Amino acid sequence: MLDCVIIGGGPAGLNAALVMGRAGRQTILFDEGKPRNRVTQESHGFITQDGVSPSEFKKRARMDVEKYPSVSIQEQRVETVEKAGDVFRVQTKGGRDYMAKKVLLATGLRDILPGIAGIQNVYGTSVFSCPFCDGWEMRDRALAVFAEGERAFHMGKLLSNWSRDVMVFTNGYRMPDGERAVLSRQQVAVVEERIEGLDSKEGKLTAVRLKNGRDIQREAGIVMTGLVQSAPFAEQLGCEATANGGIKVDSLGRTTVEGVYACGDASLSGPPQLVIAAAEGSKAAAGVIMDLVEAAFFLP
Ligand SMILES: Cc1cc2nc3c(=O)[nH]c(=O)nc-3n(C[C@H](O)[C@H](O)[C@H](O)COP(=O)(O)OP(=O)(O)OC[C@H]3O[C@@H](n4cnc5c(N)ncnc54)[C@H](O)[C@@H]3O)c2cc1C
Repeated sequence: MLDCVIIGGGPAGLNAALVMGRAGRQTILFDEGKPRNRVTQESHGFITQDGVSPSEFKKRARMDVEKYPSVSIQEQRVETVEKAGDVFRVQTKGGRDYMAKKVLLATGLRDILPGIAGIQNVYGTSVFSCPFCDGWEMRDRALAVFAEGERAFHMGKLLSNWSRDVMVFTNGYRMPDGERAVLSRQQVAVVEERIEGLDSKEGKLTAVRLKNGRDIQREAGIVMTGLVQSAPFAEQLGCEATANGGIKVDSLGRTTVEGVYACGDASLSGPPQLVIAAAEGSKAAAGVIMDLVEAAFFLP
């Protein structure tokens, strides 16, 4: 019987594993190795880790965790998680079953790109999803925002922090006149024509081709992706969701189902960033440990 199974080995799960290890708690972390930022070459904004590649970040994190003998990391996909009385049965793709007192979901989110031809070629190399993560590298360039709905206004304003040359491409979405007027106060242009496709060279955006035949030269940008849960476990276990599709948690990562915890992007409670995911992993592991300790004092 394990104290905890952690599902997901991004910063959230790995930091949780570190805290579990330092409490000497028997823990297995399962990871299938598909973090959200795997398309990028560099990660930014995490103090002491600014500019490292996602793979180097993971390597360093694993070295920290592997110092603690009660934790093991297994590169395996988890297929099912079931509640079995007060504990949990976790089955891996390899067909093995593990029993655990607690389950911590650090499974992250999956990005859904809009159906714009050519966007796959630039995503993660010159077009990214978050200006706090990659805005500095695209500062003062000719930038595009690709956003097909209400978020276009928000991102058009935000990206103007990094460049005076920002164009918002709504791909057919009609932005309210009032919002267009506000954006124009800071010279943020709005292009509502449908997009034919993106031109790029070796991953670098060069132009946005519109259906009306116009080509607009751009060098980099931000795309507003759809965000969905990577794994179905929270829903399957009956955990309540938040209005924005995150897993509802308290301040120590407890979900609405006893014994199930969640952290990182999957809870969608903070801006989705590495340092925030890691912090949430740390808090959720503290929640797991406190609850295990409490339970030992109040055993029948
Ligand atoms: C293009 C891009 C660039 C980014 N750049 C930055 C940046 O520079 N700085 C920054 O702070 N943030 C950046 N981010 C955001 C950052 O990637 C996320 O906030 C962070 O990865 C969230 O960490 P996490 O641990 O919650 O989830 P993830 O890092 O996504 O890790 C979740 C892990 O769980 C695993 N998993 C899921 N289901 C299962 C299963 N069934 N069994 C086993 N394992 C499973 C996944 O394979 C994955 O390895 C970027 C995001 C994107 C999309």
